[in-house]
Amino acid sequence: MAGDIALDLANTIHRRGTPCVVDHLGDADAILRWAAAAGVVDPGFSVAPLKRQALLATVHRLRGAVISAGTAIADGNPPPAPALDAIREIAARSLAGATLEGSPARLGFIGADRLLGPLAWAALDLLRGDELGRLKRCEAEDCRWLFLDRSRNGSRRWCDTATCGAAHAKRANADDALVQTPPEAGDATHQERAADTGRWQPRWSRAARKRR
Ligand SMILES: [Zn+2]
Repeated sequence: MAGDIALDLANTIHRRGTPCVVDHLGDADAILRWAAAAGVVDPGFSVAPLKRQALLATVHRLRGAVISAGTAIADGNPPPAPALDAIREIAARSLAGATLEGSPARLGFIGADRLLGPLAWAALDLLRGDELGRLKRCEAEDCRWLFLDRSRNGSRRWCDTATCGAAHAKRANADDALVQTPPEAGDATHQERAADTGRWQPRWSRAARKRR
């Protein structure tokens, strides 16, 4: 969990940008299951079969916008205008059909907006909120999930220390072991690596991939 439902939505794609990408929201049923599990909608919530394709398209559009805006912000760049437009549009559409009643006022989204509205408004809140400076991208190259770093000293590097953090520590240990082992004579791979980088580059690193 990224600490924010809009970021949880963004993180429903696993290994984005790699050949083994996994989309956990690949169809409308998966979206309904995820939204119920995340507490966005009630467990029995459903959408009419005719409206499922539109739901899928809008959730994917919203997710893409949160990823695009969030990634830019985490990298210290301004969020792209098309991403902000998409979030504003989806939030506005959900509000246009909603009811507002009582005091304190309660917002009641209608139909598929019961799922879309809370997500779009969570994205708006995130982008306007004072925690935006804590938005980070997991440093694991095959992850890149977005999360809010709520640690006191702002030193969190991984979406999850038990997975990405542990994998990094394991690789770092393996790298240390390799650095301490002198390359054998005639081992071109080791010599080449030592010559052009000055230090061991893990096989999965961007630099190592580019050289191939
Ligand atoms: Zn990660």
